[in-house]
Amino acid sequence: MNYYSLNQQAPNASFRDAVIKGLAPDKGLYFPESITALPKEFFENIEELSNTEIAFQAIKQFVSPEIPDNVLKTIIDETLSFEFPVVPLNDNISTLELFHGPTMAFKDVGARFMARCLGYFNRDNSNEVTVLVATSGDTGGAVANGFLGVKGVNVVILYPSGKVSDIQEKQLTTLGQNITALEVNGTFDDCQAMVKTAFLDSELTNHMQLTSANSINVARWLPQLFYFMFAYKQLHSKYDNIVFSVPSGNFGNVCAGMIAQQLGLPIKHFIASNNENNVVTRYLQTRLYSPQPSIQTISNAMDVGNPSNFIRIQEIYKNNFESLKDNLSSYSFSDDEAKEAMLEIYDEFNYVADPHGAVGYLGSKSYLKSNPNAHCVFLETAHPTKFLDVVESVIKEKQSLPSQIEAVMDKEKKSVKISLYEDLKRYLLK
Ligand SMILES: *Cc1c(COP(=O)(O)O)cnc(C)c1O
Repeated sequence: MNYYSLNQQAPNASFRDAVIKGLAPDKGLYFPESITALPKEFFENIEELSNTEIAFQAIKQFVSPEIPDNVLKTIIDETLSFEFPVVPLNDNISTLELFHGPTMAFKDVGARFMARCLGYFNRDNSNEVTVLVATSGDTGGAVANGFLGVKGVNVVILYPSGKVSDIQEKQLTTLGQNITALEVNGTFDDCQAMVKTAFLDSELTNHMQLTSANSINVARWLPQLFYFMFAYKQLHSKYDNIVFSVPSGNFGNVCAGMIAQQLGLPIKHFIASNNENNVVTRYLQTRLYSPQPSIQTISNAMDVGNPSNFIRIQEIYKNNFESLKDNLSSYSFSDDEAKEAMLEIYDEFNYVADPHGAVGYLGSKSYLKSNPNAHCVFLETAHPTKFLDVVESVIKEKQSLPSQIEAVMDKEKKSVKISLYEDLKRYLLK
């Protein structure tokens, strides 16, 4: 599959080149040249297929021929070595738990897949790559874990000092080896801006191959379509009007769901559930797209003022506002509303949701008011104990830590403090 740049000013790239570059030379995001739907029977008989087989059929067209089928099967098998259960809350609302991977956030899927693709492309050591990634919380841990020990790949993670949870910080600062954490005196937007500047800085790019492991990278973004299919597999015999509510930040996850829909997954509608960083909610109300500086909230992985993947969503719907609106609703919620929702989910369903999942739940409820026959599946994008302080103070119940999290708690944090872009550049050039 070839990919074109959404800025239209760069040559098309193979999957391999798109993954290694991250962003096109004209700074546009890569988008697949074509999307061929899978046969109807694939979805009708989906419960007969294993998750690996579903994922293989779904992503093959996007990665071949650069990744041969047998290698792709192994990559997928290793990527998906955990569960993706759907838990029903009532007849109208279920949750898809995406937190059973090693860092307990959905980003494990994309990070593990991308790391293995890069590892394959570098199998003869000819493509030394530096992965530069900004994180608002969960990306850093998932990328650090996914890329740990992959040869020929150095990972540099930028995170905003004091704005990620303790557990998230441990997950991205304690691994060592080929992983370095840079602790930025600033916000997530500052981290993301530094990464963007680095990609534009020819003194750096002439010197080293930089790539991104944010969802702008096609190998991080596309595998996220898998679990929409896994949820459908678990639900389609019971419900025929499934709607996904996706707690959204950079909009990579919901955009991947839309690619699953383009592949033929019979999904009626998507809900982008936002915290107070609500540029898309406002866009759908006003047709005005006006990015804002990010606001800090309890669902910090969604504190994004200018979502990088929204342009891909525009491309899917051919920049047609009406057809976008037919497929996407968006709602925005305050921290107080999210906390009330966490309490409600706990009291009514005896289920512990994290702050991001709680926003997804609220999006489901808002949508159901005008669409009472839908079955809404909100994505539980991270395990609640990753946000221990908030969760315990809201539901007033002590949580026990899963083994994945316990394992990092006693390790020693190692980070390099930086404030300015020049600090980042000096670090990369040394
Ligand atoms: C990254 C993240 C999100 C937002 O996902 P996007 O693909 O950036 O929209 C939501 N919840 C959690 C827990 C995350 O880590």
